[in-house]
Amino acid sequence: MRVAFLGPPGAGKGTQARELAREWGVPHVATGDMLREAAAARTPLGLEAKRYMDLGALVPDEVVVGAAAERLGAPDAARGFILDGFPRTIAQAEALARLLKDAGHALDMVLYFDVSEPELLRRLTGRRVCRACGHTYHLTSSPPKRAGVCDACGGELYQRVDDSEATVRNRLEVYRKQTSPLLDYYRQRNMLTTVSGEGPVEAIRDAIRAAVGAAR
Ligand code: AMP
Repeated sequence: MRVAFLGPPGAGKGTQARELAREWGVPHVATGDMLREAAAARTPLGLEAKRYMDLGALVPDEVVVGAAAERLGAPDAARGFILDGFPRTIAQAEALARLLKDAGHALDMVLYFDVSEPELLRRLTGRRVCRACGHTYHLTSSPPKRAGVCDACGGELYQRVDDSEATVRNRLEVYRKQTSPLLDYYRQRNMLTTVSGEGPVEAIRDAIRAAVGAAR
């Protein structure tokens, strides 16, 4: 299955993609995670990307498309993948279609996570992430057993620089302007399926399994 998870920041794409990629035996390809890793390793690409990420702006298309193309060309992505946070612009969607077509493939479906704006703000500003394994928590709705410590691996929890309230508002605005046009783009191509991204994580996961199962 070649699937892309589309939706605003905080919609739960990463939480669901991490688990379902494991279940389906395909890689979870998250451009945000890749860019954060490159920034932490202080590579030239990572340092350039960080300037945009810290402001909540999108990293230029050519940088992100190059990174995604390289990742999707790896042998473990030959059987399928879950894209998380890519594409985020029409230009990226077109580059992705070309890239897959050149390899004799196509995206099977795009899953849109529908979540209201007040809920997104609440989730993002309360989000804490494990530095070691990437597991995410929420200060009030899914706190770790011990404050600041990951239940899964014991790693240190931190708040992403771009999860501060001012930057979150900017990211939501960037989503509205630059990414939400992809809804129509994929709808017109009969590739879009909407799932509600609100409610218990397990119920959302079941809805995704059903949507993807129906498209197989
Ligand atoms: P995320 O972890 O998906 O919320 O991404 C964090 C940040 O990484 C975004 O706010 C952007 O600055 C950058 N980023 C991730 N994916 C993309 C993309 N497909 N296009 C442009 N910038 C991206």
